[in-house]
Amino acid sequence: MRIARFTTGEEPAYGLVDGAGEKLAEVTGDPLYHRIELTGATYAVADVRLLAPVIPRSKIIGIGKNYVDHAKEMGGDTPPEPLMFLVPNTAVVGPGDPVVIPPQSTEVHYEGELAVVIGRMCKDVRAAEARSVIFGYTCANDVTARDLQRSDGQWSRAKGFDTFCPLGPWIETDLDPAAQHLVTRRDGEVVQDGTTGDMVFGVAELIAHASAAFTLLPGDVILTGTPAGVGPVTAGQRVDVEIGDIGVLSNPFVARS
Ligand code: MG
Repeated sequence: MRIARFTTGEEPAYGLVDGAGEKLAEVTGDPLYHRIELTGATYAVADVRLLAPVIPRSKIIGIGKNYVDHAKEMGGDTPPEPLMFLVPNTAVVGPGDPVVIPPQSTEVHYEGELAVVIGRMCKDVRAAEARSVIFGYTCANDVTARDLQRSDGQWSRAKGFDTFCPLGPWIETDLDPAAQHLVTRRDGEVVQDGTTGDMVFGVAELIAHASAAFTLLPGDVILTGTPAGVGPVTAGQRVDVEIGDIGVLSNPFVARS
């Protein structure tokens, strides 16, 4: 099932998207909290504005260096256990929304990633039971001011600027998180081409590790790390993150005026 958040100019609503990604059937409430009931209204996806499919109420947990080839290109090894960081929910934007490059950085990078959306409050989840707390999956771009990541020594500012966490285009509730082709394009050119099967720590282990530290709440998001091929993006360019069973998250980059 694909769940989108959208607007036709009125209050945001939720809807179920068909397999082709063309039609949308509106539902009565937020499917994270309510049983799914159709309102009867239907739309063409092309006629609505898709919004970030979830606004995390409490946190986005990022995972660093979770693909061997990416850790290598960053000049290091993969960590012995998942390396977590937090991103503020104010960084989230939706499909098609501009990512604003701030004047503080001259080296902003894209990072295409599979994002996990948590479905219920949980703590100390065992990996074997992680599936029961997952609501679904979406595409993410873990946009990073690489120069500030180096100079700050920790990652809050570099990854936490407003608009630095595009999510979308919708949440897919049924997919194999270890068998997804992940491709990132910059102005149409393939710059990352990986598979989520190459994660060092899989989704279940990430949930176990994160929930051993933090209570997870419905709508929390875990960014699972990026494969090799990260690189710069400048104002005027567009970055697409495509994940096999989800779809394409596409965002233009602009300079702050
Ligand atoms: Mg990342």
